[in-house]
Amino acid sequence: MKLLEDRIRRDGTIKAGNVLKVDAFLNHQCDVALFNQMGAEWARLFAERQIDKIVTIEASGIGIACITAQHFGNVPVVFAKKTQSINLDGDQYVSSIYSFTKQREYPVIVAKRFLSPGEHVLLIDDFLANGNALHGLIDICQHAQVTIEGIGIAIEKGFQEGGQKLRAEGYDIKSLAIVKSMDPEQGSIEFEPCE
Ligand code: 5GP
Repeated sequence: MKLLEDRIRRDGTIKAGNVLKVDAFLNHQCDVALFNQMGAEWARLFAERQIDKIVTIEASGIGIACITAQHFGNVPVVFAKKTQSINLDGDQYVSSIYSFTKQREYPVIVAKRFLSPGEHVLLIDDFLANGNALHGLIDICQHAQVTIEGIGIAIEKGFQEGGQKLRAEGYDIKSLAIVKSMDPEQGSIEFEPCE
């Protein structure tokens, strides 16, 4: 998606350890008009799919997923929580994720009542790097016996293995920008072609 690639080039910064910082429009300050265009693009790419719900992870996935849901007939958005709290009542699906950016393990939790067997879901997340976050969500979806119709990713880091592995597992992943390489010294980013 050219709009997103241009925005990454303009406002993204490359940090040590292959981290792309996009807090000016995606991870801290949110560009809602851009989210809306991203939602429209996923709606085009997944037009043939039956989507009953969108599933994402807090925190950065929530904004993108909620705007995107408006392009899928206002389907509910369920976000996995990363901490237990007294507000999380009832039975839960729990999985564990290793965080690339925080370099530690954390739980992901979804209340069982928000995912019902037989539902068709679209997974949405901001980044795909090694695929750990998505594997946690996929694990929860498998336990909940919902069908994953597709996976929408804003920015895939194509030089990390997550996308390749998940596609080989048969998941239909549509990334709106795929970073081929980034050079922290030059501040330059190259993208792979997307659909
Ligand atoms: P994975 O689990 O696929 O290795 O990484 C995906 C998760 O790590 C995303 O949900 C995102 O929060 C975070 N992440 C991975 N790489 C980056 C990056 O380069 N920049 C930012 N901002 N987040 C990243």
